[in-house]
Amino acid sequence: MSKRLLYILAVFFVCLSCSNQKKDSIENKIEALVSQMTLKEKIGQMNQLTGMGLHADMQNQIKAGNVGSILNETDPKIINELQKIAVTQTRLGIPLVFARDVIHGFKTIFPIPLGQSCSWNPQLVEDAARIAAVEATSTGIRWTFAPMIDITRDPRWGRIAESCGEDPYLTSVMGVAMVKGFQGDKLSNSTSMAACTKHFVGYGASESGKDYNATFIPETQMRDIFLPSFKAAVEAGVATTMCAYNDVNGVPASGNVYLNRTVLRNEWKFDGIMVSDWNSIRQMKVQGVCANLEDAAKLASDAAVDMDMMGMAYIDSLETCVKSGKVSEKQVDESVRNILRLKFRLGLFDNPYVKIESKSVFYSENALAKAKQAAIESAVLLKNNNHILPLSEKIKSVAVIGPMSDAPADQLGTWVFDSDPDHSITPLMAIKKKYGSKLKIFAEKGLSYSRDTNPAGITKAVAIARKADVILYFAGEEAILSGEAHCRADISLPGAQSELLNQLKKTGKPVITIFMAGRPLTIENELNQSDAVFYAFQGGTMAGPALADLIFGKAVPSGKLTTTFPRMVGQIPVYYSHRNSGRPAHNILLISDIKIGAEQTSLGNTSYHLDAGDKSLFSFGFGLSYTTFSYSAVKLSKSKISENETITAECTITNTGKVTGMEVTQLYICDPVATLAQPVRELKGFQKITLNPGESKTVKFNLTSKQLGFWHQDNTYRTEPGEFRVWISANSQTGEYKSFNLTD
Ligand code: BGC
Repeated sequence: MSKRLLYILAVFFVCLSCSNQKKDSIENKIEALVSQMTLKEKIGQMNQLTGMGLHADMQNQIKAGNVGSILNETDPKIINELQKIAVTQTRLGIPLVFARDVIHGFKTIFPIPLGQSCSWNPQLVEDAARIAAVEATSTGIRWTFAPMIDITRDPRWGRIAESCGEDPYLTSVMGVAMVKGFQGDKLSNSTSMAACTKHFVGYGASESGKDYNATFIPETQMRDIFLPSFKAAVEAGVATTMCAYNDVNGVPASGNVYLNRTVLRNEWKFDGIMVSDWNSIRQMKVQGVCANLEDAAKLASDAAVDMDMMGMAYIDSLETCVKSGKVSEKQVDESVRNILRLKFRLGLFDNPYVKIESKSVFYSENALAKAKQAAIESAVLLKNNNHILPLSEKIKSVAVIGPMSDAPADQLGTWVFDSDPDHSITPLMAIKKKYGSKLKIFAEKGLSYSRDTNPAGITKAVAIARKADVILYFAGEEAILSGEAHCRADISLPGAQSELLNQLKKTGKPVITIFMAGRPLTIENELNQSDAVFYAFQGGTMAGPALADLIFGKAVPSGKLTTTFPRMVGQIPVYYSHRNSGRPAHNILLISDIKIGAEQTSLGNTSYHLDAGDKSLFSFGFGLSYTTFSYSAVKLSKSKISENETITAECTITNTGKVTGMEVTQLYICDPVATLAQPVRELKGFQKITLNPGESKTVKFNLTSKQLGFWHQDNTYRTEPGEFRVWISANSQTGEYKSFNLTD
């Protein structure tokens, strides 16, 4: 062995033993502390309360050792005061950890997570979370309840806004990016914030898209679809996780021994905190699985839930459970270890207080620039007839219309407790600022908010629209229409917005519609009425400048959808990775084409809706650019592989248009013959590349045999030999596949 190799090995082992020692030293400290704690002090650590400022009651609770963590306190001075009580006036001086929902920014707001996922740019998403962490930690918050990595296939559900969409692979990548961004290089750094993956698990499958509702998830689907994003986050070192409100096949997530203990703790070796959702332990009584609070506390503790968020179930009844032998103190100790571990990892025992800097870190130039870039990359161009976009320099005037054209709070979206809408730059403000000297700008909202139905405004808006060369119509949803407990059964454009669009169209002027919404809406009519359409979700503080750059061609769109857009609500759930029925749709005869008195047999007897056909409005992965891209045929490195081997798929993409653009290339596979029917396509990789006009690049993806497997009914993950199909394509519907074989 060469000297150099010996040296490298020696350094490696020294580093390894240092890191083990460090780990051991945290574990030793935890043990030392736990051994001194009374049962009451232990249960106090398991209690999380919401902030009440310096209220005497809160101070007394801390002094009495009844609080382990506080959420929703954001004043650094108060945080330090409360921390001082915990550190100096309790017997063991265990610090508190302060938490907050920092979901898509703290002060500087980035696009809603659903929008961010449409950037298909994990680095940008990580940077956004890092900025959120820098801003939030400056006030003393060291724990965020994000990312939400629930798989969501139902746009009625208000919390789709907080998700990364319908796909397990994409959600895993984005979730890990957010965890890295929040947690930074080292949890003990003062700008690092513990991330919390939520909601464990299956919340996105709430029946009928109604919040908190029951879910029915077969084990194989649970493993293939809902668990992977959480597993990926655990592997990436996420510090905490939150259990969900919903039940899974009748067992509430807060009392789910199998999922929380067997899978998360035992299989995946998760050693962080599992926090309940707000009052979710107590709610198990209402859900119908516990007769009283004691039973709820026992069930949650059995299910490895370490901390009770605002349920008072642990603080009020866990002691009785232990004393009566229903819950072992050993089980309580496990939870306390997890809680102390987080506090040690965050460095709170050494540095419990937040340093209050005189210079604010909020809304920095860098943060605003990143927020703008994120808003640019989140916007998806859905239609662009006759290349009307970007707007030509020849245009002399624009009409800026619509309730979202100048709605500083609504463009921020849901979960923005700490931001100040006064910092938002709306599309109208941005267009005026940047183009006010070159263009005549007519502005009239028409409807003052998204649900407005007042016809008077419509008349005014149409009158000014007539004067302009082009109409920019900013439609969508107010922020309040999505988010937690803000679900809709009808996901069409609210209020009289469609009517306003109809009237605008009648002016004969080109209409560009920009949707700013918290969910996919059913917009088929509006799409038909518009010459071009952007779906920009709610783009955050810098949504206005981002959209102005896109509309006027200073930026080129590159976002692609991460959820399938239904044409009608009745198609839900609708997602690209469905399984085939035995009769996939063909011979589609729509309701409007069925002759009166026609025989039943005139219909094709295949799988579709009479009124909607079988197609969604837009599919997962779809998005246009101002340029065009061509894809070569896919090349595979081998025609067969065996278990534990890797195959490489490649494809050359060429920019065939006139401007430089970014393209999200997507790798899909299908296992066409398997003992359990598999999805028609499944995303397994993606790359976002930049190409100048005429330039080509070859993208390569490595696929390991492990990525070809799926969960079987005997609860094992394995591959099955046979044919596999591979696509590298621009979205989930296009491209030609190449096949290879996995041999025994
Ligand atoms: C939500 C969680 C959130 C918590 C604390 C709950 O109602 O479901 O996602 O983190 O409140 O605000």
